[in-house]
Amino acid sequence: MKRIKLLDREFELSIPFEKIDNAIAGIADRMNEELVDKDPLMICVLNGSFMFAADLMKKLNFPCEISFVKLSSYEGTSSTGKVKELIGLNENIEGRCVVILEDIIDTGFTIEKIKNQLLGYQPSEVKIATMLFKPEACKVDIDIDYAGMEIPNDFIVGYGLDYDGHGRNLADIYTVVE
Ligand code: 5GP
Repeated sequence: MKRIKLLDREFELSIPFEKIDNAIAGIADRMNEELVDKDPLMICVLNGSFMFAADLMKKLNFPCEISFVKLSSYEGTSSTGKVKELIGLNENIEGRCVVILEDIIDTGFTIEKIKNQLLGYQPSEVKIATMLFKPEACKVDIDIDYAGMEIPNDFIVGYGLDYDGHGRNLADIYTVVE
C-alpha cells in the first residue's frame, strides 16, 4: 500500500479519490431529488470541507447558494472537544433550508454545536451532509441526513483534512500508521 510522510508521521493510502468521488456522487444524486424545490443555502465548514464542498457543488443541478463559515476545534491527532464560535455567516437564514457541509464527523460535538447555533437563527430546517463519518467515535445523538462513507476510528489526512496544517492538498485519503 502506498505510504507517505507528513511532518513526523507516516500515513498509508486508505481511500483513493475514485471512491471518494463515487460517495460524493451518491450524496449529490439524493440531494438532486430531495432539495430540488428548496433553494437551500449550503454552509461549508472551513477549513477541512473545502474540497468536499467544491466537488459536491459541481454535481448539484438545482438552485442553491453556498456560504463559508469557520470554527476551529482540532489540533494534532485527537479531538479536543473545544469548539469556538461560528464566524462568517452573513446571510439571513430565517425560514430557509440550510445544509451544513462537513468534512468528517468524529465525536459529533462540532456538528452538534454548529447545528444548535444555526437553529438559533430560526431556519426552516437544518440538514447535515458529511463526507466521512466515524460511527465508533460518535458521542452525540444527531441525525445525519447525508453521509458519504463510514470509516473506522483512525486519524486520517488528505482531501481537505490536515495533519498540523499539512496534507490538505492530497487527492486521496491516508490513514496514520501507528
Ligand atoms: P468532532 O467534533 O466530530 O470530533 O470533530 C470534527 C472535526 O475534527 C472535523 O471537522 C475535523 O476538522 C476534525 N477531525 C476529526 N477527525 C479527524 C481525522 O481523522 N483527521 C483530521 N485531519 N481531522 C479530523
